[in-house]
Amino acid sequence: MNREICGVRSVAFHTLGCKVNQYDTQAMMEALAKDYRIVSSEEGADIYIINTCTVTGRADQKSRQYIRSIIRKNPEAFVAVTGCYAQRKPFEIAKIRGVDLILGNQEKNRISSFLNGGGKNSGSLVFVEDIDFALRYDIPNVTSHQFHSRAFVKIQDGCGNFCSYCIIPYVRGKERSQPLPDILEEIKGLAGKGFKEIVLTGIRLGSWGEDLDGNITCAMLLEKVSEIEDLARIRLSSLEPRDLSEELIDRIASLPRVCPHLHIPLQSGDDKILKAMNRPYDTFYYQDLIKRIREKIGGIAITTDVMVGFPGEGEGEFENTYNFVRKMKFSKMHIFRFSPRPGTPAARFKEKVGEREKKKRSEKLLALSSRMQEEFNISFLGETLEVLVEKRRNDYLTGLTGNYIRVTFNGPGKLVNKIVRVKITRIEKGYVTGKLI
Ligand code: SF4
Repeated sequence: MNREICGVRSVAFHTLGCKVNQYDTQAMMEALAKDYRIVSSEEGADIYIINTCTVTGRADQKSRQYIRSIIRKNPEAFVAVTGCYAQRKPFEIAKIRGVDLILGNQEKNRISSFLNGGGKNSGSLVFVEDIDFALRYDIPNVTSHQFHSRAFVKIQDGCGNFCSYCIIPYVRGKERSQPLPDILEEIKGLAGKGFKEIVLTGIRLGSWGEDLDGNITCAMLLEKVSEIEDLARIRLSSLEPRDLSEELIDRIASLPRVCPHLHIPLQSGDDKILKAMNRPYDTFYYQDLIKRIREKIGGIAITTDVMVGFPGEGEGEFENTYNFVRKMKFSKMHIFRFSPRPGTPAARFKEKVGEREKKKRSEKLLALSSRMQEEFNISFLGETLEVLVEKRRNDYLTGLTGNYIRVTFNGPGKLVNKIVRVKITRIEKGYVTGKLI
């Protein structure tokens, strides 16, 4: 059933995976909004664009499930698949009957030139170039975001670190930075539209500038972005430990608009496992980094990623990780179970850990993470913090502090998208409430 209105076809998007992929979808949406009507997938559309993820085996499975469900529910719709799974396994996706177009991670930046009105094809057309040929950042700026108070701004793509378990370098290519003038123009546009907080994001965010002329660094970028009017907050998404230079730490400490919250993936607290993961640091280096950051930035929230069940991780290695993360007093941890990615070195490693054992270890670390989050929140009891109000539900407002504590408090709806001062009055089971000052 054709859902054209006044000859304009409708397009719906679905995104799997990380903030960078969500940003890529926003960029595709804005590129197509000139010629197509953007609708939600629930509404039903003439064209579906599915932006996939391949970071784990489960992500591939979810991508296939979603593709099949769209084809089943909309047999006449034009279905295009892009993103990291499409970049890695285009011909595996082409076997799914009903897929019309498969685009790689570079090609999706020029999606309007491939859609061609979106007429059903008899089979899948595949346009996926080797991602190693991607040498320049060529993603168009975005001018809006689905959230109202915080906007993700992608400033970098690709990673060349080749951690032994990670498939991302094979699907996102080498590091590529968005030029500074484009970033400033994009953020000025978003701030002018009322976004109070921007989240700088990328695949290896801290490498921004390394491939640009003129010896420019992430620290210098932060300085420039901090000069933009109407912007209240700058948040950094995830930074690799080795990318946190002294210069960058000093800049984060000295710029009041930069949120006192850093996400610094650790992955393991055992040096033997870190080496096998090809992570470029050991626990001594990581511990010293966290100490230096905390000395310079009071009240900072440090969150992290930890992987359990990496090949060779025995009881002893896991105990080392457990004790190390407890010592680091993170304010929150994201726990991942090792998932062998074909094509990565770790997929061929011996001494595999069983699924039941992985589950047990991840549950143990998740419980520890909740306790550490509660301890972190309790350390602010009675203090007054600034909160960016995101939304109102019933008579309650909710939003995030600069150091990533979600607070709920009474207040009028007119405060949505405003920065307000809130006294932290109660913490219970991870739930933080406060009083508007
Ligand atoms: S730093 Fe390592 S884990 Fe992160 S994207 Fe690069 S290769 Fe993957």
